[in-house]
Amino acid sequence: MSQIQTGLLILLLTFLGVVGYNVYLHETTPEEIAYTEFLSCIEEGEIKAIHLKGGQVTGENIKKQAFSSYVPDIPTIMPLLEEKKVLITAEKDSENISGFLKAMLPVLLILGGYLIFSRSQQGGKPGFGKSKGSSFHPKKRTNLSFEDVAGISEARIELTEIVDSLTYPEKFSRLGGYIPKGVLLQGPPGTGKTLLAKAIAGEASVPFYSIGGSDFVEMFVGVGASRVRELFTEAKKNSPCIIFIDEIDAIGGKRSGGNASGSNDEREQTLNALLVEMDGFDSNETVIIIAATNRPDMLDPALLRPGRFDRQVTISLPDVKGRRKILEVHAKKIALAPGINFSEIARSIPGFSGAEIANLVNEAALMAARHNKTCVDFADFEEAKDKISLGLERKNVVINEKDRRVTAYHEAGHAITAKLLPDTDPVTKISIIPRGRALGLTQQVPLDDKYTYSREYLVNRIKTLMGGRIAEEIVFGHQTTGAGNDIVTATEIATRLVCEFGMSAAIGPIAYSHEQEGFLGNTTATKAYSEKTAELIDQEIKDLIETCYRETTELLTKNNQFLHELAEALLVNETVDGEEMDIVHHCYLKQKEIEHNLLKKRKRNND
Ligand code: ADP
Ligand code: ZN
Repeated sequence: MSQIQTGLLILLLTFLGVVGYNVYLHETTPEEIAYTEFLSCIEEGEIKAIHLKGGQVTGENIKKQAFSSYVPDIPTIMPLLEEKKVLITAEKDSENISGFLKAMLPVLLILGGYLIFSRSQQGGKPGFGKSKGSSFHPKKRTNLSFEDVAGISEARIELTEIVDSLTYPEKFSRLGGYIPKGVLLQGPPGTGKTLLAKAIAGEASVPFYSIGGSDFVEMFVGVGASRVRELFTEAKKNSPCIIFIDEIDAIGGKRSGGNASGSNDEREQTLNALLVEMDGFDSNETVIIIAATNRPDMLDPALLRPGRFDRQVTISLPDVKGRRKILEVHAKKIALAPGINFSEIARSIPGFSGAEIANLVNEAALMAARHNKTCVDFADFEEAKDKISLGLERKNVVINEKDRRVTAYHEAGHAITAKLLPDTDPVTKISIIPRGRALGLTQQVPLDDKYTYSREYLVNRIKTLMGGRIAEEIVFGHQTTGAGNDIVTATEIATRLVCEFGMSAAIGPIAYSHEQEGFLGNTTATKAYSEKTAELIDQEIKDLIETCYRETTELLTKNNQFLHELAEALLVNETVDGEEMDIVHHCYLKQKEIEHNLLKKRKRNND
């Protein structure tokens, strides 16, 4: 069916709907009689019961004829009704609304018909959405500051620069540098991305325009794009300013060819408009676009190109220190009992986001109010926490204690292996705060940019990767899937070491092509080596990995105590930085030294 035919059909249906509706109205509305007639009927005793609804009165006379009428002033007829012993039922007056709705219904139907019609049309009228942008209002200078956002020290440094470029744009342009245009805040929901964007606007005291990605898409074809243009025009007039786009993945998701749904088309138009606007700034216009997403992997790469959202700041779930600070920020708003231990509360809520912590404080205040207390005390927090956690556990947000322990030992295993082996990159951070699909992380940052790698470096990298799984095995005696990715990476390094870098003794310095793709074996790959060599390669890789595995197990078993101590530090603090790890290491060495001396002394005494 062509679009015109569809449209005509919809209009016809709409018309029939209106007609049908009026017929219905006519049949069910009883005969309207004049007020004076109504009064005389009452006086004659012809009406025994009425129903009142506002001024509208309906009922039946003794001849069972339905009537309706309008009473201008009900109280004045009450004495008469009572005198004649008329049974009165009444209900609240919703007449105004329903009357309005009744009057509006045909209009709504036509409008609905039109909307469906215009939706079905590709590239509909962009002018339709010009209903003066209801979704974005400049939040006339938010007065939030970085002080309102707690536990984001890492992100804060990067974002201070954005504030500077808004406050002193001349400073940046004079030096010829380019002012950052797009900042992508990525992180789980409720970690304060919106709050942070507002705080940036507040710190720089510039207007803040905000719009949600889904606002663009819910509308009709072409409207999203025109909204984007409208928003940017408005923002440019008020430069310097900030545009905040929440859930940018709603419009900026990867473009998938071949999907013929209408909303996808709309999304693409909107995304294109956004890209065009971002590319088309004058040098004197300082508009910074901050976008938020919790699915950075879903974004169209076009958005991440230089000059667009080329700054990416990751906001992760807060660690125990961060949670304490967020608790403190929000607790300022409530009446607090003296001496509440926020560290203890923070420790007891692993995995909570900023929003969940704000909610916790609010719930605690509600608990206190429920118990008629004058201030919020520790018990209220405990009770609120239980209430929230029970709800959250269902959603599987709170990591259970068992998983936390396993993760702590796993990460400690990586970190200790790296620490104790020579020629490895220094460990800068270990964490058991889940992010994305990973339950924890061990971060190593090379001291300088590496261009060549020694064999020892590569071997120790493999060992470090295995350290996670091995620590789990030593402590818990079983394996988990948590190490899956480590094993993949380790195998890859071992393979390259043997085939590409020519670092295995049995194979020698010969580079063999090795097809990585296809887990199921690459049948089409041209083999640059014989079956025999292939076997040899496989054997070499296997040997290398097994040696690494055995030696790392020995290393970690020997330093078992260090493993326990670091894991314990992780369980308490959730993140441990390089310096803190050094302290744990130092304590461990000291302890070993003392034990050693003690042993020596006993031995001497025995001799
Ligand atoms: P997102 O945009 O990342 O989903 P929001 O900025 O909307 O998160 O956070 C929701 C609320 O949670 C905020 O208004 C604030 O009350 C609280 N919140 C989240 N993170 C923090 C934080 N780091 N410090 C203080 N409050 C926070
Ligand atoms: Zn790991």
